[in-house]
Amino acid sequence: MKSVKNNIQDNSICVLGIGFDQNSSFQKGASLAPNRIRESYFCDSSNLWSEKGLDLESIPHLYDLGNLDFKTELDPFNHITGSVTSVLERGNHLICLGGDHSITFPIIKGYAHRYKALNILNLDAHPDLYDSLDGNIHSHACPFARIMENKLAKRLVQAGIRTTNGHQREQAQKFGVEVKEMRDGTGWLDDLEFDGPVYLSVDLDCLDPAFAPGVSHHEPGGMTTRQVIDIIQHLKGKLIGADIVEYNPDRDLFSMTSMVAAKLLKEIIARIHEDNC
Ligand code: MN
Ligand code: MN
Repeated sequence: MKSVKNNIQDNSICVLGIGFDQNSSFQKGASLAPNRIRESYFCDSSNLWSEKGLDLESIPHLYDLGNLDFKTELDPFNHITGSVTSVLERGNHLICLGGDHSITFPIIKGYAHRYKALNILNLDAHPDLYDSLDGNIHSHACPFARIMENKLAKRLVQAGIRTTNGHQREQAQKFGVEVKEMRDGTGWLDDLEFDGPVYLSVDLDCLDPAFAPGVSHHEPGGMTTRQVIDIIQHLKGKLIGADIVEYNPDRDLFSMTSMVAAKLLKEIIARIHEDNC
């Protein structure tokens, strides 16, 4: 993964840091995540091969675009949408490293310019379907309400859910969200099937806190790291983009969560390469 700012080839796979955490309702800290995930990605304790045998260093056009700068006059969400749109319009594939989960709404706005019939698979402990939380319609608890009311996705599947409430159940019904709850068992892991392009949004709190303690909202009863990797490797559909959000380094222990994020990043890069290149 080469660091570049400009002159990226068309049809590349790009990684972009979006360290924005101003819409976190409980704890800040996710703004520090992108650089920590990069450190773990390049950590000498592992290598840069996918499990299926792809040498990530052999991908000719895999670029690290650095981090978005939020010390500008630009509205943060417009800045995110504009940046994502300009990367995608050149035929590139993009993986964004959050930041809190609020960034997925402006990211998907960028994708909607290019993909008219987008499927979204969201792995999360939380549905993030609040109409607003604490008076903030752009809270990290709201992105999928904004995405669905703006009709930016043809289908939203949420898996790993274990915190839903009355309001969010109503919202899921209103927007036609397909919800796979942890309490239902994990039989659904094998039948995630999509027609057309799939965007994967990984909120790291989909994982049990035993596997990924470095998140702001510890919610017991979650997925194993192996289950998330299996979803990345085996979901039926064409993976065209992804985000990994809600990593909070302030809550991590021995970088174990950033290693999980880096591992997922490797497998997502490999899957996007397999599906598109
Ligand atoms: Mn969550
Ligand atoms: Mn979330």
